[in-house]
Amino acid sequence: YAPLLVSESAYDSDRLWHKLNHAPALQWIGRAGITKLALAAVDVALWDLRAQAAGQPLWAYLGGVTTPRLEAYNTDVGWLSIPTEQLLNNCRKATEEDGYRGIKVKIGHDDPSVDFRRLEAVRQLVGTGVKLAVDVNGRWDLPTCQQFCRRAEALDLFWIEEPMWYDNVSGHARLALSTRIPVALGEQLYGLEAFQTFIEAGAVQYVQPDVTRLGGITEFIAVAHLAHAQRLPVVAHVGDMGQVHVHLSYWHPAISMLEYIPWIRHCFTEPITVADGYYQRPEQPGAGTTLTPDAMQRYARPTKE
Ligand code: MG
Repeated sequence: YAPLLVSESAYDSDRLWHKLNHAPALQWIGRAGITKLALAAVDVALWDLRAQAAGQPLWAYLGGVTTPRLEAYNTDVGWLSIPTEQLLNNCRKATEEDGYRGIKVKIGHDDPSVDFRRLEAVRQLVGTGVKLAVDVNGRWDLPTCQQFCRRAEALDLFWIEEPMWYDNVSGHARLALSTRIPVALGEQLYGLEAFQTFIEAGAVQYVQPDVTRLGGITEFIAVAHLAHAQRLPVVAHVGDMGQVHVHLSYWHPAISMLEYIPWIRHCFTEPITVADGYYQRPEQPGAGTTLTPDAMQRYARPTKE
């Protein structure tokens, strides 16, 4: 993308998004995956530059706050590999000590009974007042999902995330029809049209776009508007650890919650913070993506002179 950006202006970010997204040499290489990740990096940088030039945090540059308090839900409590005792300990600490009102537990064992027993123990521990979401990361097939959901409806799950393979529209639509548990997905969808397909099919209730995978802020906004028009809530997936999404979430009316994963915080000059289960609103100009010199040194590839 770099040669296509020489001599261009950051103020033309919409035009540049279309120029890069439709670049003939790139669109047949891949309209998903690494091509979109690269486009996302450029697009986020352009929005960051424009907001910085305006002296405003991105949420203000976009048009102000519609979400007065942004709830954080904690994904770091419930990785699939951790033993049940540690899972319960993490859930207790997150809800009792740190003030989280929502948590997410990874599921997807070959035997779903294992997941069910773990979730039963979590629900008993945290009580009924805590939002409890689960994430299968695409591991199961349709009958396994349906059997699990039938059993798990008693646990009052907030959503079941990516229950099946990421591109399977009809399977998710069938599952959504057959269970009271809402279906969440979107972290593996790389374009507006993919979201439109899932939304039109009734295959998703919680829409989870990610600026780092979707082609950046420009396309995230389109997806959020699309979901909002159907009155579907948007809860972003934090491939950026939330640095950019916290701005988008405070701004967009379809968003009232955001995932929390506390990885690579040390890489950013202004890491986002959560207090009593709510995201603090960033007040520094830009999109919150400025890296520390140390992170640049450790992770940036040296450029050839
Ligand atoms: Mg997920």
